[in-house]
Amino acid sequence: MNSSNIIETPEELDSFRTQIRRFVERELAPHVDEWDEAGELPRDIYRKAGALGILGLGYPEEYGGTSASLAMRSIAIQEIARAGSGGLFVCLFTHSIFVQPMIALGTEEQKQRTLPSILAGESIAACAITEPSGGSDVANLRTRARLDGDHFVVDGEKTFISNGVRADYYAVAVRTGGEGARGISMLLIERDRPGFSRTALKKMGWWTSDTATLHFDACRVPVANLMGKEGSGFRTLMENFNGERLLMADEACSFAEVCFEEALAWARERETFGQPLIRHQVVRHKLVDMKMRLTSTRTWIEQATARMDAGDRSDPFIAELCMLKNHAGQTMRWCADQSVQLLGGMGFMRGMKSERIYRDVKGIMIGGGAEDILKELAANKLGY
Ligand SMILES: Cc1cc2nc3c(=O)[nH]c(=O)nc-3n(C[C@H](O)[C@H](O)[C@H](O)COP(=O)(O)OP(=O)(O)OC[C@H]3O[C@@H](n4cnc5c(N)ncnc54)[C@H](O)[C@@H]3O)c2cc1C
Repeated sequence: MNSSNIIETPEELDSFRTQIRRFVERELAPHVDEWDEAGELPRDIYRKAGALGILGLGYPEEYGGTSASLAMRSIAIQEIARAGSGGLFVCLFTHSIFVQPMIALGTEEQKQRTLPSILAGESIAACAITEPSGGSDVANLRTRARLDGDHFVVDGEKTFISNGVRADYYAVAVRTGGEGARGISMLLIERDRPGFSRTALKKMGWWTSDTATLHFDACRVPVANLMGKEGSGFRTLMENFNGERLLMADEACSFAEVCFEEALAWARERETFGQPLIRHQVVRHKLVDMKMRLTSTRTWIEQATARMDAGDRSDPFIAELCMLKNHAGQTMRWCADQSVQLLGGMGFMRGMKSERIYRDVKGIMIGGGAEDILKELAANKLGY
């Protein structure tokens, strides 16, 4: 993720928020149940999000992006989350884990070929790192790309890949060299390459988002599709993870806020024992406990967003991003749990945002670095 040096005025941020909120209320929220049951987001929605500039926020204008601070992107995250669907969110933001390494490593030709159509919502992008043999230990990935003339021949499998079924472009981490982190490179692989196939996966949550296992069976990819120098993949992926962790922390906090709003509205409306739920002290205290966690998490996210915008990449800050993602995931899990409980039977029913968010939370706590791995990385960066 780039630092932006851009500061929008409060009026610009407010006006952007209003615009995105209107889009969410009119075009997204009324359809999220239908898309979740169908297990996919209509292509048209990517295009509409692209036309509004949501997909290109903060990316270079020469590739179809819009200059914006991460604070501006945070507004888009919060507003898209208001639709209450983690799957929709993943569909609209997963391209960022492709775009970031493409900007860092890609050749001019690769960037021009992929980025404008991805940021316009015309093409879908995925980033494939995790393998059936393991996702946490990235340095030991096994998918091999062997040089054969002017092509790499790719053999191996990737799994749990978001946008994996429908993407047009994949940034794939492969082993071009020896063992360990230095043998890893990134390859751009198009969906129609012979020897490349996909199997859709069924999941606990994030239903709108298609997730897949990717199979590479002697798949020939031109050397011109190598992103950056051979062996440069691992470092770029680590940098990519920092941005992804801030994004996911913001996503988690935003969904926790949605749970709180749903719980508060319900507590005001629902009557038991002759009075609204909110008149029971224990219910009010639950709401305050939610608000307390939300306030601390949101404040930390704002602070981290400002530091990222200012270009901080220090070890203590990377440790902070790991802890923040864990903290925000726990806030989301706790608030979803409290909200579902407060909603009673309704909390268990499809159609309530909290019900879906309760199912979606593990995607946050496992994807983009599972909790234990992030604790270990934080400890390492803090020199413990
Ligand atoms: C819905 C979803 C979408 C995803 N999207 C993508 C995507 O788009 N692209 C992509 O590349 N990947 C994606 N992933 C994969 C995700 O990044 C991995 O699942 C994650 O990194 C964990 O890897 P793993 O599942 O192989 O678990 P493992 O690495 O096998 O680990 C299993 C568990 O053991 C713990 N653990 C592992 N090692 C240690 C240790 N040394 N000490 C203590 N605990 C340890 C982990 O924390 C984890 O809880 C997605 C995953 C999900 C669930």
